[in-house]
Amino acid sequence: MDRFAKSKLMTFPREVLVGHGVLDDVAWLLGELNLSGPALVVTGERTRALAGERAAAILSKGGIPAELIVTASATQASVERALAAARAHKAGVILGVGGGSVIDVAKLTAFRHGAPYVSVPTSASHDGLTSPRASIKEEAGSASKEAKAPLAIVADTGVIVQAPYRTLAAGCADAISNATAVLDWKLAHRLRGEEYSSFAAVLAETSANMIMENVESIKPNLEEAVWLVVKSLIVSGVSMSVAGSSRPASGSEHMFSHTLDLLAPGRALHGEQVGVGSIMMMYLHGGDWRRIRDALAKVGAPTTAAELNVDRKTIIDALVRAHENKPDRYTILGDKGLSRDAAEDLVRATGVA
Ligand code: ZN
Repeated sequence: MDRFAKSKLMTFPREVLVGHGVLDDVAWLLGELNLSGPALVVTGERTRALAGERAAAILSKGGIPAELIVTASATQASVERALAAARAHKAGVILGVGGGSVIDVAKLTAFRHGAPYVSVPTSASHDGLTSPRASIKEEAGSASKEAKAPLAIVADTGVIVQAPYRTLAAGCADAISNATAVLDWKLAHRLRGEEYSSFAAVLAETSANMIMENVESIKPNLEEAVWLVVKSLIVSGVSMSVAGSSRPASGSEHMFSHTLDLLAPGRALHGEQVGVGSIMMMYLHGGDWRRIRDALAKVGAPTTAAELNVDRKTIIDALVRAHENKPDRYTILGDKGLSRDAAEDLVRATGVA
């Protein structure tokens, strides 16, 4: 009999602090983790005043020397600049205090600097806020890079509730899109024998269901709604930690969105695009696509091409080319992708365009 030789490393966040006013406890939390700094606080133009400066002040008051760096979009240049600052200040911990791009810069800086990183999201727009992967803008679109799982997450609902509601709705859509990502994964497992983790899949599905079963409670200016979305995104991030890849939270609907990023950059938020993608991919899977559409509509996320600010032809082009986006990730799009006719039928049948 063969000896059992399977092994796997899963890295999870160690401390997750969620709730009203928890930013005030950030110095205490670093103490719990035996991190005495110095700390580099990576923040954004807009999030600086909202939480970045406050985080640095709370750390300094708590006896942890903190330096603040304001970063712009998530590019290689931004990472290099933050890395230089981390080295200059001999940072023992990196904090990302901001939205998606800030967190991406912070986690890649931490990965390259070899220091732990703490995620302090100021919006809940996608599950990258909690996941070990980072997306970096490159000339050929955005690339997903191996980074670090956060050592801790500090999600202050009192801060996040001040972000535009649109970002929260996009976060809901990113979680909901796990429904089709998991179906794609199951398909690849059955058809190609791809390694599959039922535990990771259940977590990813739970993340989607937490939103779909509670759409009534997701409204603007409501911290309870933020709490729910943050929890769902954390569960989604954990599913990726268990899988060791983005597989449970990123399937054909993400490939569609990434292709749309290439064809029509900057039209809509990541979560908004994957949500619309998920409606269409659920249709292809023969599943309950109306449930996805209705949940998105209920939370106020886009369900049509027009709401994504993209025309019908671009949506169809993105559908036809989506399978090329990650050729080694097998999904419902198959090896050859959709034919143009099938893509036209798909957008018509689902009312996307
Ligand atoms: Zn996503």
